[in-house]
Amino acid sequence: MNYLSTRGDRTPRRFSDILLEGLAPDGGLYLPERYPQVDGATLKRWRGLGYADLAFEILSLYIDDIPPADLRMLVARTYTKEIFGTAEITPLVALGNGVFLEALSNGPTLAFKDMAMQLLGNLFEYELERRGQTLNILGATSGDTGSAAEHAMRGKHGIRVFMLSPHGRMSPFQQAQMYGLQDPNIHNIAIEGVFDDCQDIVKAVSADLEFKRAQRIGTVNSINWARLLAQVVYYYAGYFQAVREDGAPVDFAVPSGNFGNICAGHVARSMGLPIRHLVLATNENDVLDEFFRTGRYRVRGGAETHETSSPSMDISKASNFERFVYDLVGRDGARVGRLFGDELARQGEFSVSDAERARIASFGFASGSSTHADRLATIRATAEQSGVVIDPHTADGLKVAREQHTPGVPMIVLETAQPAKFASTIVEALGREPARPAGYEGIEALPRKVDVMRADVPAVKDYIARHAA
Ligand SMILES: *Cc1c(COP(=O)(O)O)cnc(C)c1O
Repeated sequence: MNYLSTRGDRTPRRFSDILLEGLAPDGGLYLPERYPQVDGATLKRWRGLGYADLAFEILSLYIDDIPPADLRMLVARTYTKEIFGTAEITPLVALGNGVFLEALSNGPTLAFKDMAMQLLGNLFEYELERRGQTLNILGATSGDTGSAAEHAMRGKHGIRVFMLSPHGRMSPFQQAQMYGLQDPNIHNIAIEGVFDDCQDIVKAVSADLEFKRAQRIGTVNSINWARLLAQVVYYYAGYFQAVREDGAPVDFAVPSGNFGNICAGHVARSMGLPIRHLVLATNENDVLDEFFRTGRYRVRGGAETHETSSPSMDISKASNFERFVYDLVGRDGARVGRLFGDELARQGEFSVSDAERARIASFGFASGSSTHADRLATIRATAEQSGVVIDPHTADGLKVAREQHTPGVPMIVLETAQPAKFASTIVEALGREPARPAGYEGIEALPRKVDVMRADVPAVKDYIARHAA
């Protein structure tokens, strides 16, 4: 399988060539040259498989430059009961009337990002060792991504992590999850500033190409193709649990920010999984809901980006969205380059043509958004009716799912985080603290490993140079 860029670069690259890469050289995102088709007989054969074996089958269709025995070993090491809490890995919880939650947040950091990041840690370690190279991962986080990356990379040979976070601005639980890691290859840098300051430092360091090459700087951000591919697996796993008869349709509702999670659903559907609707749910930051309703993609400025109670969906532009648009415009890389390169840079927005807009429905997309009040009401109603406490992001998904659900077609809502991570909103909704999963009691009191620094690019570079792998 070869990979190409959404902006037209068709230089043949295999999976291992793009694994450690961010953007393609032309500024586009990597996609496979085609989506392998999964026929009815294959679907039937996959139904009985455990999660790791299913992951191996799906990944094998996209990865042909890692020996099968090695790939099988890597996924078997990743998707275990010890790491994800249950033998099913992503069990379904029935809420009644054909609505289900698919539990994706039972990994080490209690958010769905572990599903992909844990695999990425094992793939990176494998590939770096094979090449005899090392990598220094640099990132900025306001919460979920940084802790998922650190828990995936801790103790990995040849890898160091330098994660910038805004000093004192993450929740006590999130701080404990990151700063509590004592592994020598994990470096927490708390920057005196806000998340944007952290992001700006990462951009400035990465823009120094000489430094970047000399220090072997890499990233694990959400545009990484391997992360997206790992997420395709749980659409199949959810389908097999919700639908008894192969070929019957299902709907998925997905709380969305950077369009990574739901883009994996688009890939699963493009492979032939019988998904009728992909229901995209946003919070007040409704960039994507606006696009799927109107065909107009308008990125937001800082002043227009709301701080909400589902903070992991507070985005001003959606970094994976270009992948879907590439398919929507008939895989015309030059056109994607004009839309995302020129028009977006010049005007901060673009609109697809009427004909393209009419095609959106054929990809199964529908959308909706919710408010803080909607989240509180959904958390409350779900606790009362089903005895299940959901987190605010999952509540965004469930609220829109209920609006779009039709009887007879199962609706699977992807659960993206545990309520314990967002305790203050749960207290606001239910008047009580959410339960803490076993093993997470009192983590705020554990010793911390974190260096506090000023928002100063040369100082951060110096720190990296002194601690690099
Ligand atoms: C990252 C995240 C999201 C958004 O996922 P995307 O892939 O960016 O669309 C939603 N909920 C939670 C809890 C997250 O951590």
